[in-house]
Amino acid sequence: MDKAGPSEDVDDESSSAPAAKGFSFSSGEANAAMDLDVQADDALLIRKVSILPAGFPVEGRPLVDMAIPEDRRRFRETIDYVQENGGIARMRMRLDMGDSPHAVIGIAKLAGECPIGVSGLFLCSESSMFGEDVDETSLYRELFERLPLGIYFKDREARYLRANSNLVRSAGLLHIKDILGKDTAEVLGPEYEPDLAFSDEEVIRSGHPVVGVTELEHNEDGSSRVVHASRYPIRNRLGEVVGTMGFSHDVTQSARVVEALQRSEQRYALAAQASRDGIWDFSIADRTFEFSPRMCELLGIPNSREVYSEADAYANFKPADTERIQRTFGELFAGERETVEDTMCLNIDGKQVWIELVGTALSVDGEVVRFIGSAADITEDRLREAELQALARHDPLTGLYNRRVLVEMVDDVIEENIPATLLSLDLDYFKVINDSLGHQAGDAVLCEISERLAAVCGNGYLGRLGGDEFALLLTGDEQERAEEIAEKMTDTVRTELTVSGLDLYTTASIGVVHLSDEYTDADQAFRDADIALYEAKKKGKSRYELFEPELRRAADDELERQVMVRRAVQNNAFFLMYQPVFDTATQDITGVEALIRLTREDGTVETPQAFLPYLEQTELIGEIGEWVIERSLSDLAIWRDQNLIVDGFRIGLNVSRKQFLTPGLAEYILDAVDRYDLDGDQLILEVTETAAVNDIGLLSGTLERLRSHGIKVALDDFGTGQSSLAVLHEMPVDILKIDKTFIDRIEDENGQSVALAALWLANSMGLEAIAEGVERTTQFEWLEENGCDMVQGYLLGEPMPEAEVAELFARAQKIERPALKIVRDETTPDEAWGVLEVARDARPTLLEWADLVSGRKAA
Ligand code: C2E
Ligand code: CA
Ligand code: CA
Repeated sequence: MDKAGPSEDVDDESSSAPAAKGFSFSSGEANAAMDLDVQADDALLIRKVSILPAGFPVEGRPLVDMAIPEDRRRFRETIDYVQENGGIARMRMRLDMGDSPHAVIGIAKLAGECPIGVSGLFLCSESSMFGEDVDETSLYRELFERLPLGIYFKDREARYLRANSNLVRSAGLLHIKDILGKDTAEVLGPEYEPDLAFSDEEVIRSGHPVVGVTELEHNEDGSSRVVHASRYPIRNRLGEVVGTMGFSHDVTQSARVVEALQRSEQRYALAAQASRDGIWDFSIADRTFEFSPRMCELLGIPNSREVYSEADAYANFKPADTERIQRTFGELFAGERETVEDTMCLNIDGKQVWIELVGTALSVDGEVVRFIGSAADITEDRLREAELQALARHDPLTGLYNRRVLVEMVDDVIEENIPATLLSLDLDYFKVINDSLGHQAGDAVLCEISERLAAVCGNGYLGRLGGDEFALLLTGDEQERAEEIAEKMTDTVRTELTVSGLDLYTTASIGVVHLSDEYTDADQAFRDADIALYEAKKKGKSRYELFEPELRRAADDELERQVMVRRAVQNNAFFLMYQPVFDTATQDITGVEALIRLTREDGTVETPQAFLPYLEQTELIGEIGEWVIERSLSDLAIWRDQNLIVDGFRIGLNVSRKQFLTPGLAEYILDAVDRYDLDGDQLILEVTETAAVNDIGLLSGTLERLRSHGIKVALDDFGTGQSSLAVLHEMPVDILKIDKTFIDRIEDENGQSVALAALWLANSMGLEAIAEGVERTTQFEWLEENGCDMVQGYLLGEPMPEAEVAELFARAQKIERPALKIVRDETTPDEAWGVLEVARDARPTLLEWADLVSGRKAA
């Protein structure tokens, strides 16, 4: 568009609004083009007209001035409408230029800075258009029919007044009369779903045109067409809407074109993809290949020749692949097969490339003359597959091999008789970390440990079997260093580690087994490694242990014993023995200790050491413990009823650590005491020092409760634990049972001090003392002399069945006993407590404390 010229003469404001830039209104009817400028007051100034009607200087004049007065109002309204709503409006305007010329004017509001752009076209009056007598109205009518549009006029009720045959046809009808007087719904039938917002009715109601709406219309044959439709209001002179005119343009074909274009684009993409394949063609007569450039690329050979020899073609093949492909070609030639399908790995400049080759034989007159086919690069697929495989072989948390792989490897080395050593590793305190800090911390520890282990285990195959269990398989030279590596592994795990700001400490126990040829599968190897591992744990953890066949026997024994114990529980094969306890001074039987026994199926009797550990490992200890309480109290009730026992007679029950942890123990005991009509002070509960040390809080509560009912608490095996004295301070205790090991040393001048210290301690704290395991008279005499209240041991009575002990009670009643003689130390209880205070801080062992006491005595 020409910006120069007269329009530059108009004032600045108008020139700042570019005239109808980028917009051209044309319906093919144009015989003149007109540029308009917009003034501030919306007056449209004609900027330029392409063909000036002779004698009419119009440039620079307001367009509205050119309209005949009757059309001016409508003109203004159209401008206002477009100004407000945007879009394009078209109007016919009669111009005041003599000879009644008129114009069809397009008015548009364009986006951006241009508020209104207008372009128009002149249609000159009939006389001036052809200069001859041509009926312009009939021209329009012809145009109306010929335009490739469906065109119609409708009345105020949106009923067809006129329609061209295009429209009639597109409605699937034959005659215009089928349309006239009907509305769209009547014409198109019930299938028609009008979009009311864009309907003629709406145009009539609002007086606003609807321009360029895309509509989907259905044909009678079920196909559909895409239509662009526009509808305009028709106004009378007064500006009232009296109907609509509209036209629709079937764009189905162009929609199809777009679709076809898309399809061809896809096809192109496919073709491009296909061209990633190489094409090959093998001539049997010449024994030569022809390759597409891509094929050369795939084979890793230069694309420089017309034909290639087989040697050229297979240059980067592995010998086995060459051999196979030649064999396949032979079979193709012989008619034994029709196609070839193969994958192979080529080595191209040191890079592995996987290709997939497909092809077929081509025959001419029944004779195979060529093989042709294609090849594709499948390296990426292969790599992905390999990745997936790697995933299936590794532990996702640590990246180490998983159990399956390790088992496979161990199976392999066993099968192939490869000398190998298997290490089984288990973290010692991992459960504590996991339980107290959560799984995330646990995972972090496992990862850290894995890295450390990997760093010290050389070329061995390190795997995580699950949880905190790891395994290492060593072969070759490395297996001779197995113990050295095991040592390094325990060392590296032992080093403190930091997880989320916390310093943690864990250790590892390792079992090592050399896989001799007596192993036939991985299961055996892992079992023996685990047996050695278990031994390492038993021997104090954070160490390794070599597997020895004796260990397996021990493990087998253990298993056997477990079975034995379970069966005993089922069969109720337990019974109680009672060992009498004597008053040292009077030698009265003042009580018994109940000791459990088990009768095996073969009739032999087992002592507690053989089965207690298994009862404790399982929940069975609770059940058996209750049985012991029940049985012993009922025996006591019988002895009482038969007047077999002296006043103050007490029964001692051993209660294990695990038993104290089972809830409701105190209730059970108190209930049993009640049921047998006994008094609490007829009962002593014997608690070992180790039990006390570990669960002092829990224990104290339970014991206090029982003591409040008169039940006495004895500290069993006193002196064998590590913190005897501290325990005495923190736990309610009535009786000390001095362990046999100290009684055994009584006859030894230097060994006496411990027993003496224990007695002194009991005395100064107001506790009773019972000496255990008294086997000889000399021991008894020493104990009597040094003021031990009570004794128990083979010398005076071994543990015996209920019937025997009852008989003993009866006999004992008839014996005359020596007079009371107690040797008391001069130390006052207060002084003893003072010593004990010191002792508590220093936490000396009983042995050290014994030195302290004997030192005082000597001084
Ligand atoms: P303990 O409480 O120290 O029991 C004393 C052990 O020393 C008994 O062994 C007893 O037979 C043995 N003994 C007694 N006098 C002598 C002696 O002069 N010389 C020798 N060499 N040994 C003597 P036993 O019956 O084998 O019991 C072993 C341990 O089993 C007991 O040690 C006790 O801790 C535990 N136990 C026994 N019965 C029960 C029970 O019913 N429940 C629980 N939880 N533990 C029990
Ligand atoms: Ca005991
Ligand atoms: Ca004991």
